[in-house]
Amino acid sequence: MNEESDRRIQRWGKALSIWRDVPDSDWNDLQWQMKNLVRTAEQISKLLCLSETETASLRRLQKQFRFAISPYYFSLIDTENPADPIRRMIVPSSLEETGGGEVDPLAEHADKVAPGLTHRYPDRVLFVVTAFCSSYCRFCIRKRNWKVSDAASTRAEIDEAVRYLRAHEEVRDVLISGGDPLTLPLDQLDYILTQILDLPHIEFVRIGSREPVMLPMRITDDLLRLLDKHAPLWINTHFNHPREITEEAAEACEKLARLGIPLGNQTVLLAGVNDDVETMKKLVHSLLRIRVRPYYLYQCDPVIGAAHLRTSIWKGIEIMEALRGHTTGLAVPTFVVDAPGGGGKIPLAPNYMVSAAPGRMVLRNYEGALFSYSDGEISSAKGGAPASSVYDLLTERAQHLIPQAQPHYERREAVALERSFAELAHSLTDNEE
Ligand code: SF4
Repeated sequence: MNEESDRRIQRWGKALSIWRDVPDSDWNDLQWQMKNLVRTAEQISKLLCLSETETASLRRLQKQFRFAISPYYFSLIDTENPADPIRRMIVPSSLEETGGGEVDPLAEHADKVAPGLTHRYPDRVLFVVTAFCSSYCRFCIRKRNWKVSDAASTRAEIDEAVRYLRAHEEVRDVLISGGDPLTLPLDQLDYILTQILDLPHIEFVRIGSREPVMLPMRITDDLLRLLDKHAPLWINTHFNHPREITEEAAEACEKLARLGIPLGNQTVLLAGVNDDVETMKKLVHSLLRIRVRPYYLYQCDPVIGAAHLRTSIWKGIEIMEALRGHTTGLAVPTFVVDAPGGGGKIPLAPNYMVSAAPGRMVLRNYEGALFSYSDGEISSAKGGAPASSVYDLLTERAQHLIPQAQPHYERREAVALERSFAELAHSLTDNEE
């Protein structure tokens, strides 16, 4: 047994595993992983030691929404824990059979202008080029496509979409998504990127992919060479939990970053997965360490079969409150809710403007300190009175209202005290001389 299989066994704990003796050369091989996807209720049942009732539920679900999990991603599950966050994201649950939800919660079909092409925002489009993913997330908003087929867009469909783009010079960038576009055969991905980037008004392309997370062995040298050919490219990955940031995933992101591809991350806020401040902080900090910038935090959309994974919007606001100001802005994603019916993303944040009057505002910072802020001419009269209300700040009677026992202000007072001692000592020395 070598280091790699030791690591896998560590991940699996005491779990029964059918992959224990797989040689590393196979385990790290894209083709082997794809050939060995976990696809059936029976396989999942065996790996997780499910009861007959749970297995029966999986069999029913299998008819409704497909599932597949790469052995690599499956190996991240703590099989001893039924509430394991990775398991919640990827293993079908009987809860999917209840709770309602919509088939196309973002109404992408209503804005579809050509095969795979959704034109919603003024200067950019979404181009869905395949329905296939190497593993299927239970909260996916495009589950409706899983039913249709695995199929990637045909040449004719791609050409039709490109014709639309050629006629619409207002489109500056194309977000290529899926399914997962990085699962496409390389010649097909090459064709799509070439066709799009040949259009003079397309300034860059973004690719949305969860392959660095669920199948990092997909980031092969051949793929890297292809991506390098089509700069400028941006890639948005999709890490939802810090345990997804394994050595393999970090290496995949490192390879992409070394090509000069800017990496962003979109996270979906999921109940029982990442809906607590500590997990989210760990996630965003770990992302920065692997050169991935947290970009969006999405409220989970009301897609069919995902009601048990949704949280209240307030949970997202609470998490943003705990991030903004408490850590670098680079680690703080924008929290967004997709408007029902295809209204697009709406950013939400805690409220930092407490009150306003003509020419003056009262703003608060992350510590809860309130500040009187001029929104017009800067007046030289500085209200020096201690504030006893927001109104004092709004009428400029006072400048700020600082909560007690703030480490920042305690530190400032200590520094001021030290400075005055130093000045006193200095002046005494001067006098003696
Ligand atoms: S990887 Fe993306 S497109 Fe594929 S199932 Fe997961 S969320 Fe949906």
